[in-house]
Amino acid sequence: MYQLTQSLMAALLPEICPLCKQLKQQHAESICHACWHELHLSRQVEGFTVNLASETTVWLSYDSEVVKACMHVIKFNHLEQLAFTLGRCFAHNVNKPAVDALVPVPLSWRRQYFRGFNQAEAIARGASSVWDLPVKHLIHRPKHGKAQAKLAMTHRLQSSLDRYQCPEAVDGQRLLVMDDTATSGSTLNACAHTLWTSGASWVSVAALAHGA
Ligand SMILES: [Zn+2]
Repeated sequence: MYQLTQSLMAALLPEICPLCKQLKQQHAESICHACWHELHLSRQVEGFTVNLASETTVWLSYDSEVVKACMHVIKFNHLEQLAFTLGRCFAHNVNKPAVDALVPVPLSWRRQYFRGFNQAEAIARGASSVWDLPVKHLIHRPKHGKAQAKLAMTHRLQSSLDRYQCPEAVDGQRLLVMDDTATSGSTLNACAHTLWTSGASWVSVAALAHGA
C-alpha cells in the first residue's frame, strides 16, 4: 500500500530539480536539462596532483555553483542515483583508464550508516557501467583509529598515511581509486599508500570534483 501511494504521488506531483528547484520533466535524469548542460560546460581540472598516485584525474571544479550544489545534494539529500549518473558522465568525459579495477574510497561506518550509501561507491559503479571494469572494495577503514591528538607530531604524518587497510594482497594489480571530492588530496594519497604497500603495480586516483 505504501509503495502504491508512493507511485501515485510520483505520478501526480511535478518533479523538481534538486539543484535549481525548477520544474523538470518527469522521469528525466536526476537533475534538469539546464543543470546537466551547465555541468557539461565544466572542463577537466588541470594541475592537481596527488603525490603517491601514478596519475590524477579530476573532472569538475567547485568554482561552479552548480557543481557545489550537486555535491551537496548527493551527500545531504541522499541522492544515490545522481551519484551513479555522475559517475557515468565522468566516465564518458575522461579517457578509459588502463587498470584492472576501480576502488572506491570507503566511508566511515558512522557516515555510511546515517547516509545509507557511500557516494564514492555509487560514482565508481556508474563509471564501471561505462568502462566495463569491476568495482573492488579493497580499502577498509578500521573502526577505531588512534586519536590524532594523542600522537606525537612526528607520528602524525605516518598515522595519516596509515589510516586505511587493504585486507587482501593485490600483487601486480593496476588500480584506480575513486572519490567524490578531492580537497587537499590527503585521503586519496592515504588510499594510494595502502594499495602500494599491499603490492599494487600501479595506482592512479580520480575524483569527480576538486575543491570544497
Ligand atoms: Zn536544475
